[in-house]
Amino acid sequence: MNAVRLDAVTKIYRSKVQTTTALTNVTVSFPAGSFTAVVGRSGSGKSTLLHCAAGLDRPTSGTVTLAGIALTGLSETAVTRLRRDHTAFVFQAFNLMPSLTLRQNVELPLRLIGHRPDPEAIGAALGAVGLADRAASKPSELSGGEQQRVAIARALVSQPQVLFADEPTAQLDVAASQQVLGALRRLVDERQQTIVLVTHDPAVAARADRVVVLSKGRVAELLEAPAAEDVAACLLPLEGMHAC
Ligand code: ADP
Ligand code: MG
Repeated sequence: MNAVRLDAVTKIYRSKVQTTTALTNVTVSFPAGSFTAVVGRSGSGKSTLLHCAAGLDRPTSGTVTLAGIALTGLSETAVTRLRRDHTAFVFQAFNLMPSLTLRQNVELPLRLIGHRPDPEAIGAALGAVGLADRAASKPSELSGGEQQRVAIARALVSQPQVLFADEPTAQLDVAASQQVLGALRRLVDERQQTIVLVTHDPAVAARADRVVVLSKGRVAELLEAPAAEDVAACLLPLEGMHAC
C-alpha cells in the first residue's frame, strides 16, 4: 500500500516576470512503512515535490493521492484536514519555543487545536527519539541534534501516517546528523513509520531504503538501498549524464 502517490505531477510557478517549471511529469510512490530520500541539486524541485506530496501546495496538473484519497478537486478545508490527520513536517530550523520545556513543546500542536494532551502519548513520542528523561529540560539545554529530535517527537504526537522532513540535518554537524538519522531509522524499523526526507547530502540519503533522484524537476533515478557513493554519482555536475 502506498502512503502517498504522485501521478504525472507538474508544478509551474507563474509570476508577472517569469514562469518556472519546478516539476515535470513526476510519477513516484511512497510505500507505507518505507524510508525514502529525495535528492537532487539545489533548485531541482525537492521542496516542491515534498510540498505537493503533503498537500501544502497544489500541482498545476497531475494527481496526488494521500492516505488513499486523491487531493485533486478537494476543497482547501478538506485538504487541510487530510494533511493535519495524516502528515507531519520537520524542517531545517527546529522552531522550538525557548521558554517551554521539551514536554510543553511536544504538546503544543495538540493544545493549539484544542486537544488535551495525553501525558503517556507525549512521553512515548519523546521516548521514540531517545529523550524521555529530558522532558523537563528547556531547548537551550540541548545540543542541536537533540533539539531536532524534539522537533521529530513533536511531529509524531499526531501519529502521522507520513512524516515529511525537508533538509532536517542541514544545520547539524556530522555527529548530530547521525543522531537524528538514527532516530528516524528507528522509527521506520521499529514502528513502520513512513518517512520522506529531502536532502542534498549523499551520506544522509544512504540511510534511507530508497532514493529518488530529481534532476531539473524530473525523476532521473530510483535507487534501492544505495551506498552513499552511488547517490553521489547521480549528483555529478553533468546534468543528463548521470553516472548511475
Ligand atoms: P529544491 O528544494 O530542490 O532546492 P525547489 O523545489 O525549492 O528546489 O525549487 C524548484 C524550482 O522552483 C526553483 O527554480 C525555484 O526557484 C522555483 N520555486 C520554488 N518555489 C517557488 C515559488 N514559491 N515561486 C516561484 N518559484 C519557485
Ligand atoms: Mg529545498
